Amino acid sequence: MSGLRSVEEHLADVLAAAAPLPGERIGLADAHGRTLREPVRAAVDIPVFDNSAMDGFAVRFADVTDAAPATPVDLRVVADLPAGTAADPALAPGEAARIMTGSPVPSAADAIVPFEDTAGGLADSLGAISVLRAPRAAGAHIRRAGEDARAGDEVLPAGVQLGALQVAAVAAAGVAEVAVTRRPRVAVISTGSELVEPGAPLRRGQIPESNSLLLAALAHDAGADVVRRASVPDEPDQLDALLAEVTAAGSSHAADVVVFSGGVSAGAYEVVKTTLARTMVFSKVAMQPGKPQGFGRLNTGALLFGLPGNPVSAAVSFEVFVRPALLRLQGRTSLERPVIAVPAASAWRTPPGRRQYLPVVVDRSGPRQWRAVPATTGGSHLAGGLGRAEAYAVVPAEVDAVAAGDLVDVMLIS
Ligand code: AMP
Ligand code: MG
Repeated sequence: MSGLRSVEEHLADVLAAAAPLPGERIGLADAHGRTLREPVRAAVDIPVFDNSAMDGFAVRFADVTDAAPATPVDLRVVADLPAGTAADPALAPGEAARIMTGSPVPSAADAIVPFEDTAGGLADSLGAISVLRAPRAAGAHIRRAGEDARAGDEVLPAGVQLGALQVAAVAAAGVAEVAVTRRPRVAVISTGSELVEPGAPLRRGQIPESNSLLLAALAHDAGADVVRRASVPDEPDQLDALLAEVTAAGSSHAADVVVFSGGVSAGAYEVVKTTLARTMVFSKVAMQPGKPQGFGRLNTGALLFGLPGNPVSAAVSFEVFVRPALLRLQGRTSLERPVIAVPAASAWRTPPGRRQYLPVVVDRSGPRQWRAVPATTGGSHLAGGLGRAEAYAVVPAEVDAVAAGDLVDVMLIS
C-alpha cells in the first residue's frame, strides 16, 4: 500500500550488498564469539580412548557375571589407575584394577564395577575386593573411543558462531586454531544539533545523546569492532569530514559499516539525507517504528546505514536491517533471531498497513505460559521504556489491533 517498501524488500537490498569479509586463522582462546569460515574436523577421537565412566574397578566381565549380595565374587586388585596414567596392566582371571573416572580401561578388562557395588567401596579398594552386584553387561560403564566423534569427522560446520559450548567442542576435538571471518569494523555517528553528552547540563532545546551508545552496544553484541563512536551537529561539512575520516581508503581501521542515526526523515534539516543524497538511497519502509531508512554503499565497499533518530526507531532499525548485515559480513549462516508465539498480556493498537515492532517484556512467571507485556505505549521516542524491553512483538501489517490473549510473534533479542 501507499508506495511503502516491505521490510523484506529493503532487507534483501541490504543483504545483497553485504558479502562476507576476508578470513583469518586465530587461536581458540581468542575465538569466542567469532564465526567459523571453514568446518572444524576432529583431530582426535572423542573420547580419545576407552575410559571409565565411574570410580571403581576395571574387571573381566566373565569373572563377575554371577555376583550378587548373597554370592559375592572376590577379586585381587593388581593395579591402581589414576586419571592420566599410561599403564595398561594385564589382568588374569580373578584380578581387577582400581580405576578412576576418565582413566584408560585396561585392554584386558571389559566392564567397570563402581565402588558402590563392592563390599568395601573406596575405603577398602586396594588388595582384595568383594563384588556384590554384577555389571549390567559387558562394556558397562566404559565410554568408548570415538563414540561421540571420530578423528576426521566434522565437529562444527562453517557459518556457525563459536559460543562457549562450540569453543569447548573444538578444544575437545584436539584443534587449536580455527578459520574465522574478520570482525566488521563499525563506525557509529549520531546526528542532531540538540544532542549533548549524557549528564552534561541541558539548556532549553537540548537532550542527552543516547543513540551512539545504543548502536555501538548493539554492533558489539552482533560481533563487530566499534572503531568510532561520535555525535555531530546537523552540519553537512562536519558530517562529510567525519565520514571521510572513518572510511579513509588505505587505513587499516577504515570502517566496513557506518551507522548514522537521525537526519533521514522529512524535516527541514535532515543532514544525512541532504549530505549523502548521491551515495545513499532513502526509502520508506512499511514498518513502525523505522519508516524512513537510508542505505548505500561507498566505492570502497563500506556500507552506510541511515537510521531514524528516535531511540526506539534506531533500535528496531538496527535489529531488522543492520544486525543481519553484520552477521552476513561475518559469514554467519543463520541471520534470524528466535521468534516464539506468546499471548499478549493486554490489548494494544497497531498502525494500519505497517508491520509493528513493539518493545515488550516477557512475563515468565507462568513457566508453561509466557506472556508479552508492552514495555512502552508504542511511541518511538519512549527511550526510557526501551530500557525495560527484552524482546519485540512483531505484528503483521494486516493486523489492525491486538487483543489481550491474542498470540503474537515475539522476537527474542537477548
Ligand atoms: P531525527 O530522526 O533526526 O528527526 O530525530 C528524531 C527524534 O529523535 C528527535 O526527537 C531527536 O531529538 C531524537 N534523536 C535523534 N538522535 C538522537 C540521539 N542520538 N540520541 C537521542 N535522541 C535522538
Ligand atoms: Mg535530527
